[in-house]
Amino acid sequence: MTKNIIRIKNVTKIYRMGAETIAAVNGLSLDIRQGEVCCLLGKSGSGKSTLLNLIAGLEKPTSGQIIFHKKHMERMNEDQLAHFRQQYIGFVFQSYNLLPTLTALENVTLPLIFRNVPVQERNERAMEMLRAVGLESRANHKPSEMSGGQQQRVSIARAFINKPQVVFADEPTGNLDTKTTYEMMDLITGLAKENHQTLVIVTHDLELSEYADRIVVMMDGKIERIEERKKLGGEKS
Ligand code: ADP
Ligand code: MG
Repeated sequence: MTKNIIRIKNVTKIYRMGAETIAAVNGLSLDIRQGEVCCLLGKSGSGKSTLLNLIAGLEKPTSGQIIFHKKHMERMNEDQLAHFRQQYIGFVFQSYNLLPTLTALENVTLPLIFRNVPVQERNERAMEMLRAVGLESRANHKPSEMSGGQQQRVSIARAFINKPQVVFADEPTGNLDTKTTYEMMDLITGLAKENHQTLVIVTHDLELSEYADRIVVMMDGKIERIEERKKLGGEKS
């Protein structure tokens, strides 16, 4: 049996813009399965990023429940959410979100600093991750001294270094050319499968959903339909 790692129950997120309100996510329910590559697909404005931010604990729902490891995220305060993210979650952003004054190696070590890993172990593990993403030779480069694809490799190394149970990626290839896009998708899905991690990827690009085990098509803050792609094999329940 496949285990659900995240259960989303009747979740709504309402934004207020002056007199107007927008239900960015509108009464949505979904279970994310342990070890799957789940793709949230939909047009711009369909609520993909909002949903991702809710399940990654970056935003709080207006109503509904998000249960991650039997813990109710909607009941956590900011400190609890921050701790929770450090422990369980990796995030890859479209715009990389690297710290510009730090080197590639230093950027990758950040999640380990928050977890008080000693400096030598930190550097060794970060170097190992940079090797895994093919960037060993750029360890001492700053983000401005790297291409977009290289910067995204650094951010992928940072997202995976703690071996988080779930990695969220919001349009991770949105700023990259086609060839780099496929390299990056191979890398992210390869790392996740290798470590039996769950991966939730937001995209508006139908072709990228090829990488998914399951595609959740969103429209107007709701699920329009769900497509099963591959059978999840081999994992224990
Ligand atoms: P997607 O990622 O699919 O493009 P979003 O989740 O970013 O969609 O946005 C869904 C809807 O919610 C859009 O109509 C958007 O304008 C609105 N929205 C998103 N974030 C905010 C915000 N912080 N304040 C107000 N409206 C927002
Ligand atoms: Mg978005």
